[in-house]
Amino acid sequence: MNIHEYQAKELLAKFGVAIPKGIAAMSVEEAVEAAKQLPGPLYVVKSQIHAGGRGKGKFKELGPDAKGGVRLAKTLEEVESHAREMLGNTLVTIQTGEAGKQVNRLYITDGADIKKEYYLALLVDRATSRIAVVASTEGGMDIETVAHDTPEKIHTITVDPATGLMPHHGRSVAAALGLSGDLAKQAAKVLSGLYDAFLATDAEQIEINPLAVCEGANGDELLVLDAKLGFDGNAMFRHKDIAELRDLTEEDPAEVEASEYDLAYIKLDGNIGCMVNGSQASRWRRWTSSS
Ligand code: ADP
Ligand code: MG
Repeated sequence: MNIHEYQAKELLAKFGVAIPKGIAAMSVEEAVEAAKQLPGPLYVVKSQIHAGGRGKGKFKELGPDAKGGVRLAKTLEEVESHAREMLGNTLVTIQTGEAGKQVNRLYITDGADIKKEYYLALLVDRATSRIAVVASTEGGMDIETVAHDTPEKIHTITVDPATGLMPHHGRSVAAALGLSGDLAKQAAKVLSGLYDAFLATDAEQIEINPLAVCEGANGDELLVLDAKLGFDGNAMFRHKDIAELRDLTEEDPAEVEASEYDLAYIKLDGNIGCMVNGSQASRWRRWTSSS
């Protein structure tokens, strides 16, 4: 199960992860009201869809020269015109497929003064049965492209569940990102917040792209500028608060209907169907008791 960027950031902030100020908006009026509550002078208007690549995405209705799904605004008027162009329109990104996704929600956030962007993700590594931390200096880019073109720029470490996250993991991530001094400490703090969030929410994936060094009033700060969170759907029964964040308009109607009957159904392209039924646990019990 996935949630929107603004929901992901609000959740991560509860675990002490530093994010820019931001407010979600469902209408043009709400977008302007949200911007009024932010310090300015730079705002970012961000389309909220369950897909990445929004910044470089294109709106179907606006033509090729229009700006993408993540836009900077220097005035309230600009916030208003960006919101008007985004809401209700269809954003096509590298991850949405040709059909694109309709933008029904926006996130209005504080504009950060970015010095450098990084990539940081946590996921379940099935090969080692551990949480893996993936870090790269190549933030803000499509990580699949980085993995393909410059795999040496991707660093992966795994965390032993018996010890949990240790200080040396934080130091390794900081070193992989080339951060030292106070920024290395901030990187370790971000990592520990993400790790705590991962365990506490039964996450399957936390992807921060970009994690950015930004110029702040009190020196450089490491901020989470984009966050993607995916959860283990089978564990959502024990996270009612997260389950409530589900946005059904983002999901395939056939999958939504199947989920109402507790059916695990995944819609795929093509004309070959695959129907699977079974109970791994009971088969295992039968096998062990008969052998
Ligand atoms: P997506 O990955 O879907 O394109 P992002 O949230 O990563 O969306 O935004 C795309 C780019 O926009 C980022 O790589 C970053 O350069 C810029 N950006 C995002 N949020 C902010 C912000 N709060 N302040 C300044 N720039 C931002
Ligand atoms: Mg991003």
